Amino acid sequence: MLQVTVLGSGSRGNAILVDGSEGAFLVDCGFGPRTLARRLADAQRRPESIRGVLLTHEHADHACGVSAASRRWQWPVHATAATHVALTTEACGAPPHRVMLDDTPTIAGFDVAHHRVPHDAADCRAFVLTDRASGARLGVVLDCGHVPETLPAFLARCDLLVLESNHCPTMLANGPYPWPLKQRIRGGSGHLSNADAGRVLADVVHPGLRGVLLAHLSETNNTPDLAVTLAREALRKAGWRRDGLWAAPQRAPLAPVQMNGSLGARAAQLSLAFG
Ligand SMILES: [Zn+2]
Ligand SMILES: [Zn+2]
Repeated sequence: MLQVTVLGSGSRGNAILVDGSEGAFLVDCGFGPRTLARRLADAQRRPESIRGVLLTHEHADHACGVSAASRRWQWPVHATAATHVALTTEACGAPPHRVMLDDTPTIAGFDVAHHRVPHDAADCRAFVLTDRASGARLGVVLDCGHVPETLPAFLARCDLLVLESNHCPTMLANGPYPWPLKQRIRGGSGHLSNADAGRVLADVVHPGLRGVLLAHLSETNNTPDLAVTLAREALRKAGWRRDGLWAAPQRAPLAPVQMNGSLGARAAQLSLAFG
């Protein structure tokens, strides 16, 4: 079985809990150990049960907690060689347990396919994670300045997809950010707009796609309603008739998204219900 729980996503921190047939791991670790442990507890997990972290890139909002978590809970940290090198110069430092992403990496019973994406980091990667026991496929694309021609084919046949939908270009242009930051965000090595995400979805949608999680939404230059509306429009136009589309929040975990594209109950709701 495949299940995805976004523990938080945005410029203040990213961590995605992925469950498969053989255990659970995180994609990115952009929260400090206390916040991370609290959000894992919300998802009814102990940090000790997590099998490791897979890093998209070294930016603080994706990796600031990785070194401390690796030290505290002995998590192996999987990343490309360039990302591991880049981590040594970040404030968080290099994690003690390092694993290099090679051509055929695996983590917690998942095969990991990775694809380079343009972003102002050392070696940013998108992933397709295949649960070996069930064959279920999860695509993850976080920070990405523009969509490489080969990315849609890489994301083919995913059951679930986590995709950056960072900003509305009009809100960004009219918003309070300084000019150089606006230029960075909308540049080719910055972040995907809602329209960019819509184009990716139109290219990768297929009847077996069960759920889409929009991620890394800007709290200043986007709204969940806007991102979801544009994504739904793109998916509908491409013939997708399912309902499984959500915007992942920054400040609290989203309920787990199941393999069949439905939203599971949150731990807090469960404890209330059975309290
Ligand atoms: Zn980044
Ligand atoms: Zn980021």
